[in-house]
Amino acid sequence: MSRRILVVDDLSINRAILRATLRAACYDCLTADHGQKALDLARECRPDLILLDYCLPDMTGLELCRILRADPASCDTPIVLFSARADRAQRLQALGAGADDFLQKPLDTGFLLGRIRSLLRINRTHSPPFALCALSGPSGMAEQPATAAPVARVDMICEPESDADGLIAAAPRLFDAMICRTLSLSDSLLQPEGTPAPDLLVVSPAVLARNGVQALADLQSRSVTRQSEICVVLSHAQQSLGAMALDLGAREVLRLPLDIEDARLRLLAILKRKAWRDAQARAMEDQLDMALRDPLTGLNNRRYLSGEILRVAQDLQRGALTGCALLLVDLDHFKAVNDRYGHNTGDDVLIEVAQRMRASLRASDIIARYGGEEFVILLPQTPLGEARSIAQRLCNTLDQAPYRVGGRDIGQRITASVGIAMQSGPVDTAPDGFGRMMIDQADKALQSAKTGGRNRVVIAQAALA
Ligand code: GH3
Ligand code: MG
Ligand code: MG
Repeated sequence: MSRRILVVDDLSINRAILRATLRAACYDCLTADHGQKALDLARECRPDLILLDYCLPDMTGLELCRILRADPASCDTPIVLFSARADRAQRLQALGAGADDFLQKPLDTGFLLGRIRSLLRINRTHSPPFALCALSGPSGMAEQPATAAPVARVDMICEPESDADGLIAAAPRLFDAMICRTLSLSDSLLQPEGTPAPDLLVVSPAVLARNGVQALADLQSRSVTRQSEICVVLSHAQQSLGAMALDLGAREVLRLPLDIEDARLRLLAILKRKAWRDAQARAMEDQLDMALRDPLTGLNNRRYLSGEILRVAQDLQRGALTGCALLLVDLDHFKAVNDRYGHNTGDDVLIEVAQRMRASLRASDIIARYGGEEFVILLPQTPLGEARSIAQRLCNTLDQAPYRVGGRDIGQRITASVGIAMQSGPVDTAPDGFGRMMIDQADKALQSAKTGGRNRVVIAQAALA
């Protein structure tokens, strides 16, 4: 479905030209000749983007922009304002009111279409409404609860000899409240994986002159800078590169000589959206992690284990693993702990059991609370002898020192019985039946450990055959 753009201009000739331009670029076009009609259309038709002339008969474009931003129906619709007058104050007010750009007439059609493509590409569904991005305070980094973010990290990709007068000279005023570094394009591209990712890359005119806009594609292909927002700075001779830079992934295009206040408004709006998106992504990751974790012990849960067992089964099937061991661990007479000391103490003991088990295993070993006082340990690529000594070590660790709860040692020993199932070579059941088979074998071995006197390790019959 083609995207829908609302054009608001009081002059019919201007509307006709823009409509023709937009239709030629395969956009659906709605038009309004005054502010109230634009508001009605914005509510009824939900355009994907709004192009707004500053001078309208019933209100200014700035007033209209403010009303649109305050309306939930259009609070996050991209808005580009334009004006015949080169009025800096108008421009700064418009950017401060949430306009995504402010262009001067006569419009540069190539750049306008590049800006439209760029704004439509950004997934606004996962962006905060403008209200959450409001800029304030001298640093501009308003402390909204949802957007409060660590100080932004900015990498200026520069050539110090050539960029000294323009971008580098402006940097202290532009990035005063941010962590700002200056580095060459190759230094940025060669950063090792794991280097803290910059929030914003500012690419200088000299870098673009030497490397072309290709540099933007390179920066977006590296793991360290892939998620960074990009702003390019163009010299007077590079004006024509703006649309291409936007098409290649730049979020903003600034021009020399820099208007510091204008540039700050634009960059801070980008950084705030990014901080908000990053916080959303982290919250989502935390929620996913919680869904795979046991809340009492912090160990992974059974759902996580199922996924890991399936992954191991697939690895065995395609020969990426040659074997694995599965340990089913059940605490002995745990009911007696609850009966004697109460359920809360029982919980505390379970927490410490989990800590002792985690500490005695390798980081790559998979450990999950299977249920109640039962745990499963999955050991990929582990032969029987090693699995047996890991299980024995685990039993020793659990039993070796008294458990301290509420500042005193509990008198009862905590021991465990362990059943071990083994698999070597490809699995002969379907991968999703592999987990059941291994648990079943380990369970039988565990029952033998219980009937054999508890506090011991038993290997499944199938593994000994
Ligand atoms: P066995 O040696 O035969 O395994 O004896 P057991 O007492 O450990 O086994 P049983 O299955 O009879 O009882 C398990 C106990 O584990 C009973 C249950 O209340 C306790 N339990 C299970 N989950 C929790 C928990 O989350 N917190 C506490 N405090 N106790 C739990
Ligand atoms: Mg049990
Ligand atoms: Mg038990």
